[in-house]
Amino acid sequence: VLTAENVYKEFWTSNRERVAALQAVSIAVPDNAFVCIVGPSGCGKSTLLRLFSGLEKPTSGQVSYRQKPVNRPSAQIGMVFQEYSLLPWRTVADNVALGLEFAGMPKGERAGRAADYLGLVGLGDFAQAYPHELSGGMRQRAAIARALAVAPDVLLMDEPFGALDAHMRILLQKELLRIWENHRQTVIFVTHSVDEALYLADIILVMSRRPGRIKATIQVDMPRPRDRAIPRYGQLYA
Ligand code: ATP
Ligand code: MG
Repeated sequence: VLTAENVYKEFWTSNRERVAALQAVSIAVPDNAFVCIVGPSGCGKSTLLRLFSGLEKPTSGQVSYRQKPVNRPSAQIGMVFQEYSLLPWRTVADNVALGLEFAGMPKGERAGRAADYLGLVGLGDFAQAYPHELSGGMRQRAAIARALAVAPDVLLMDEPFGALDAHMRILLQKELLRIWENHRQTVIFVTHSVDEALYLADIILVMSRRPGRIKATIQVDMPRPRDRAIPRYGQLYA
């Protein structure tokens, strides 16, 4: 179980004002759950993911994974960033292999595994390209391959399909569900699309702004595979 207990996160802005990004966030994510987070821009979705990843610490409250405090990044918890963050001076294949090195995979196995996952996201022909030679959507797919290749227990994804065309998005949604059904990692997936959340999630967290907090937790009790013409759950933001 991945938990946040009464988590507050504040930032100081450049003109020395205090911003409460998250207030009193408590959530227990069961192992193997697929959770989607939706909510308006600025409500703290990325902040919450960074706290779960151990990249940032709460101002108060506690984040734990399997009863141990999360206070630094580890290979057990992987993240796909909103701005994909590839190293520009490394090829796409090297970017994926570096993730594997960080996760402790022996050198001899890294290249093959990197190639497998680049193939999975349709970048087999671009393994030796540099990030600046790719489109935004392709860079995003490379970042997804880097995270998936490590097969972390918890996969945090911050709007991972935001820069993809509709066709590629549907393809990768299906692929992600297939991977998740095989590996059964915990996935926390931020999206602006309620349709995407209804297609993917067991649990949808709806967040609100000012204060940034979890406003509703919705259990999605629809069997998979789900129809794409999903009935609307009404006004999630109302
Ligand atoms: P979006 O949907 O646009 O990605 P979000 O829900 O991911 O938005 P966050 O990026 O988590 O929102 O930001 C939440 C709030 O915290 C915002 O008000 C933002 O200005 C503030 N914030 C986030 N990071 C910092 C920071 N490093 N310094 C100061 N303020 C920050
Ligand atoms: Mg964000």
